[in-house]
Amino acid sequence: MRAIAIHSRDTSPAAPAGIRAHAACEPPRLIERPVPTPEAGQVLIAVSACGVCRTDLHIADGDLPLPHSPVIPGHEIVGRIVALGTGVTGFAHGQRVGVPWLGWTCGTCAHCLRGEENLCDDARFTGYQIDGGYAEYTVADARCCFALPDAYDDAEVAPLLCAGLIGYRALRMAGDAPRLGLYGFGAAAHIIAQVALWQGRSLYAFSRPGDDSAQAFARRLGATWAGASDALPPVPLDAAILFAPVGALVPAALRAVRKGGTVVCAGIHMSDIPSFPYSLLWGERRIVSVANLTRRDGEQFLALAPQVPVRTEVTTFPLADAAEAMARVRDGRINGAAVLVMDGLQQAGLQ
Ligand SMILES: [Zn+2]
Ligand SMILES: [Zn+2]
Repeated sequence: MRAIAIHSRDTSPAAPAGIRAHAACEPPRLIERPVPTPEAGQVLIAVSACGVCRTDLHIADGDLPLPHSPVIPGHEIVGRIVALGTGVTGFAHGQRVGVPWLGWTCGTCAHCLRGEENLCDDARFTGYQIDGGYAEYTVADARCCFALPDAYDDAEVAPLLCAGLIGYRALRMAGDAPRLGLYGFGAAAHIIAQVALWQGRSLYAFSRPGDDSAQAFARRLGATWAGASDALPPVPLDAAILFAPVGALVPAALRAVRKGGTVVCAGIHMSDIPSFPYSLLWGERRIVSVANLTRRDGEQFLALAPQVPVRTEVTTFPLADAAEAMARVRDGRINGAAVLVMDGLQQAGLQ
């Protein structure tokens, strides 16, 4: 099968000191691999679509260390089950399933026992420790797979699996916030904006200064206000969710929320947060992070999405063009989400 892999660069002692973090990996490239065999509890999936998430860029750019080399990224996987390992229940041959970032949990650590499997001490992640969906086939732990709502085609549903699920968890963390700010108006924000509006919240969208296209996109989706991330909204916000991985946005968002307001950091990686005066946090403002997802988040969100209905805006790329898709996400040259589709499916209407 064909797959896109990220290899670590040769880090021989000859490498110059102070080598930049993003030199840690080679550019993503196409490789040939045998089709994997599902072990007990796993399903083998013929992948039809896989979303490109910012976390994939953090892996490719060396912001997150490679757990091994090479890594096949991709954790917004949509495909059909073509083989079942022993002991799999609840799924059938031929069924369409989705695979998210949380790919394996131990079930026995204190967090798992509390139902916080998103915080599992030994959690393994799809497209990171576990080979992901930038590939024609992948294996996944059946306990982490989701049945997918029929209302979406394969490319449309892919972004729901990370941008949607983790965005939804972030939205829940924001609490009952009628005036909600979203910093970074990419794949996750464009999904969560629709849910927030449907819930009757008013939306304030922040994007990179000068990114008129993202601001227009936010207004088109129904944002009350859209502006630059260094601007203050016209009214104090009840909560703000940071989807952009920029630490400097934490004090910016604290400035924008009212006393008692919450700032939710939704990304898995963020640049360092600059120091800021305590007065910004004072007044019972809170900063929280969101880690991964629980099975419950996934089931709730995938049931909710067709009711809203959440519409995803996707730009599709063939698997071989993964590097180009990633570059466009990195540069903010995608409105909505980038999705890789496997050969033959793009022309065939993604059956
Ligand atoms: Zn993701
Ligand atoms: Zn655990």
